[in-house]
Amino acid sequence: MDTKVFLERDIERAAAILRGGGLVGIPTETVYGLGADGLNPVAVRAIFQAKGRPQDNPLILHIPEASWLERYCEDVPDTACRLAERFWPGPLTMVLKCKRRTPEELETLWGGPVCSYTHFGPRVIPDVVTAGLDTVGMRCPAHPLCREIIRLAGVPVAAPSGNTSGKPSPTTARHMLEDMAGKIDAILDGGPCCVGVESTIIDLTCTPPRLLRPGGITLEQLKGVLGEVAVDPAITRLMGEGEQPRAPGMKYRHYAPRAPVTVVKGAPERGAAYIREHLSHTRWDGVICFEEYVPLFMGGDETRPVFSLGPAGDKGEHARRLFDALRAMDNTDVKRVWAQCPDEGGIGLAVANRLNKAAGFHIIEI
Ligand code: AMP
Ligand code: MG
Repeated sequence: MDTKVFLERDIERAAAILRGGGLVGIPTETVYGLGADGLNPVAVRAIFQAKGRPQDNPLILHIPEASWLERYCEDVPDTACRLAERFWPGPLTMVLKCKRRTPEELETLWGGPVCSYTHFGPRVIPDVVTAGLDTVGMRCPAHPLCREIIRLAGVPVAAPSGNTSGKPSPTTARHMLEDMAGKIDAILDGGPCCVGVESTIIDLTCTPPRLLRPGGITLEQLKGVLGEVAVDPAITRLMGEGEQPRAPGMKYRHYAPRAPVTVVKGAPERGAAYIREHLSHTRWDGVICFEEYVPLFMGGDETRPVFSLGPAGDKGEHARRLFDALRAMDNTDVKRVWAQCPDEGGIGLAVANRLNKAAGFHIIEI
């Protein structure tokens, strides 16, 4: 399959592919997504195939405005309305109860008395999107081209991140082509993503609401609207053998470059000094560090791959550059990656979470 690259002027053609059951790479403010018509189970199944994604890992359903929520969700709590008002469109996914069809609606679809739900399941959203759960992750993205393509397609768009399963998420159309060229119909190029890490996911079907994945909307911002918010333990530590994660996606290896990663946490200056001390003096050790410390790793005749996360104090920039840096490591022949990590305040919690997962929670605290 020849994967077309579309620009803004071609957006109607990209939307037509979605409407027709095809796969389109879609720019969002978080990362590029791999989109399909979320009401078409055949189209959605193709997403799993293109990514090599496990079937029990559900997808997020993207809508162009909050008013579409009630088409797909029921018992929408007041907390969802407050969050939507404050943070949508934006990098926040809310896990809500899936809408079920009434017996009358099912009879109409079925064309007679309902004795089996085989073709038209009781949920409005196909099981392949929700992995058969009674809940669905809903998001209204802020990227204008993203909302426009969904509006033009006229269907909710199911989309995970547009990477091959396990690899770092794509934050440019070029990254996405590296993984998906020949496997999907098209990519709509909307420029580099301005958040750089995937959306925050909050489960609103439990009390108190529970943070399942940190992202562009911070824990502090959520608490500002909701008061109490529980933080799922899988965000900050490795799950034990017998532990079952709350969100299916949490159990999978994620974001990892080929070479093993060691995360170094603590005061930036001491962290950089620690890495410097433990580096081997060859090109086999790559470094991801704050801008200020780049010269520390590039002196003399060393030809070491070093990628900057931006200034130590600019966590927004760390989020924007992180996946690019992890991907860049795969274009080198390093055998080991050392990475500095910001503290966990604000969007630092999301950066630390992705880095820790990339490292399989191999973390050194100094
Ligand atoms: P991705 O965008 O590739 O990171 O994948 C979407 C993420 O959303 C995965 O980690 C899923 O586990 C999570 N997700 C989607 N729907 C639900 C849901 N109903 N309940 C919990 N997590 C969900
Ligand atoms: Mg993903």
